[in-house]
Amino acid sequence: MNRSTPDARAKRGHRPTAAAARSGGRQARAARGEAVAGRLGDLYPASRCSLDFRSPLELLLATILSAQCTDRRVNLVTPELFRRWPTAAALSAARQEEVEGVIHSTGFFRAKAKNLLGCCQALVERHGGEVPVTLAELVTLPGVGRKTANVVLGVGFGRAEGIVVDTHVGRICRRLDLTRRTDAVGAERDLVTVVPPDRWIVFSHQLIDHGRAVCLARRPRCTGCGLADLCPQRGVPAPAGTPVAPRGTALGHGKDGSGGVQSRRVGRQPGRKPRRNVP
Ligand code: SF4
Repeated sequence: MNRSTPDARAKRGHRPTAAAARSGGRQARAARGEAVAGRLGDLYPASRCSLDFRSPLELLLATILSAQCTDRRVNLVTPELFRRWPTAAALSAARQEEVEGVIHSTGFFRAKAKNLLGCCQALVERHGGEVPVTLAELVTLPGVGRKTANVVLGVGFGRAEGIVVDTHVGRICRRLDLTRRTDAVGAERDLVTVVPPDRWIVFSHQLIDHGRAVCLARRPRCTGCGLADLCPQRGVPAPAGTPVAPRGTALGHGKDGSGGVQSRRVGRQPGRKPRRNVP
């Protein structure tokens, strides 16, 4: 695994070129990962976690609440949650119905309240009310998976043990062909082999910002995208109005179902079932 920083490699003349990053193969994917990480640093130098928190415990609880919910919505309810139950011990002893009332607007409030209480009870019983600092311990807490654990470790403790893969990160990394996995754990396993370790924490925040502003789920704004020269746009539908060659031509839809402008962009092979565009 390449552990030198993109900047250091660039100074030594090793920064991958866009052409190298665009080409196929495992080496090209690694070059593309490094080039994308470097470019994101240029494009989004101020990216950060958008959840409000003052301690690792608050970050942990806010991240549990952020499942299927916007960070902005979470930030609206956490001040009251943290005011009424400021410690793990206090929240572990709260009545679930009261917690549900406070976090109701974040959705899935019953399951989330149960997880908050269960998580705090486990923190009190097993960790003296403190948030543990290893992935292995964090993922044993109720409501905490790899994504939440990586957020807490990276943002709360500055420890890069993995890469946070949410819907934005997964979608954009598939379009960039840094992974083809649709499950978060598999995608993370691919990403840690192509993104320099010193970028693991900020990489997710930058991609989330890019996903909100440019690489939108339904209509990515590829024209003018700062990553366009590095991006194979895998699975991205052709823009409306793109001419499709007639059937039977080299680029058209032949009898075997192959070809066509859009399917060429998603790398469809003759005789194979068409791939669904991955959001
Ligand atoms: S070029 Fe298009 S698909 Fe690729 S990252 Fe940019 S917006 Fe997303």
